[in-house]
Amino acid sequence: MSLPQFKLLRPRTVAEAVEFLAKHTARVGEGDSPAQSGHVPIRVIAGGTDLIPSMRQKLFEPEYVLDLRGVAEMKGIEPEADSGIEIGALTTLKAIERSETLRQRYPVLSEAAATVASPVLRNMGTIGGNICLDTRCLWYNQSLTWRKGCGFCIKKDGDLCHVAPGGTKCWAVFSGDTPPALLCLNAEIEIASPTGVRRIPLQEFYTGIGDNYRRLQPNELVTRVFLPDAAANYCGIYRKLRVRGSIDYPLAGVAVAMKRSNGHVADARVAITAVNPAPLLLNGASAILAGKAMDEALAESVGDLAARTAKPLTTSALTPEYRREMIRVFTKRAVLAAAAN
Ligand SMILES: Cc1cc2nc3c(=O)[nH]c(=O)nc-3n(C[C@H](O)[C@H](O)[C@H](O)COP(=O)(O)OP(=O)(O)OC[C@H]3O[C@@H](n4cnc5c(N)ncnc54)[C@H](O)[C@@H]3O)c2cc1C
Ligand code: SF4
Repeated sequence: MSLPQFKLLRPRTVAEAVEFLAKHTARVGEGDSPAQSGHVPIRVIAGGTDLIPSMRQKLFEPEYVLDLRGVAEMKGIEPEADSGIEIGALTTLKAIERSETLRQRYPVLSEAAATVASPVLRNMGTIGGNICLDTRCLWYNQSLTWRKGCGFCIKKDGDLCHVAPGGTKCWAVFSGDTPPALLCLNAEIEIASPTGVRRIPLQEFYTGIGDNYRRLQPNELVTRVFLPDAAANYCGIYRKLRVRGSIDYPLAGVAVAMKRSNGHVADARVAITAVNPAPLLLNGASAILAGKAMDEALAESVGDLAARTAKPLTTSALTPEYRREMIRVFTKRAVLAAAAN
């Protein structure tokens, strides 16, 4: 599958990158999502590990590709002024996996980063690309010929959903590994746009709608990730279900960050991925766990909560029933492992 023709733009600063985006998205209406506007004339590329295969499948055919790799100010892992950690969006997953500071202070993020794809892809893939990753579906991540044979679908070029026929919503699944870990750490992200920069909790970034999954305008960039000091030094565990252990996207994933005191759970947060159109913090998990001594029954009740929150559909090679059961089992195991850590 060949790449479509495009012009490559190579900014050196965030300001220059945003200027290019503003210039080439002027035709897209304010507030339009890519799905609503049909065509976005410019796409951002970081490591390219997801964008390039998608362009080969003709899921995106931009006239311009904005290559961020020359923007030095978006790279690196630095202490923040108030002693949290700041990670540039272009920092590779390998750098995150290998960072001793992150491993010691935010182990759930190191664990999750280390499970993304394969070592070669983690060399190229970035944390910003992982956060902004397109949602996935068996009926969408296919070649143009394949999709045409099925009459396309709501997410791209069509008006029906093969997964939930009769519905008008796209249920494509968010399948990034690091966002659930970042949600457990109460991470924030910085977004640069032509009108300046803003900082938002990562939790507010995702919409839960498969074909319009992130709150990011076509003229905006994710530039930085912030990990608060208050979330440091929690035990961290990440577990994922995938078909091939050496490379695949998660088909269900769970992150746990836990602090213990005197044999009890002092505080804990649990988040799931790859079973909904957005990564989700489990509402109520902290309340179930806080102040309790860990045992099988307690971990099982968090597993049950995860299974109730997950809404897997036939978007992947494994059945929804199996993925729902696995999110229950993996969550229980992850909670037990965090308490034993
Ligand atoms: C075989 C294979 C297996 C994979 N397995 C996994 C897996 O197990 N887990 C997983 O999480 N991912 C997996 N991936 C996907 C991908 O490798 C990672 O998600 C990676 O982190 C993407 O980062 P990137 O820099 O390469 O993103 P890119 O491909 O460059 O970009 C991805 C998307 O994010 C947008 N984007 C990138 N950076 C920014 C930014 N700073 N601001 C705004 N938008 C931005 C792009 O426009 C694009 O839409 C896999 C990919 C392949 C090919
Ligand atoms: S969930 Fe439906 S609309 Fe969305 S990508 Fe899959 S088939 Fe298409």
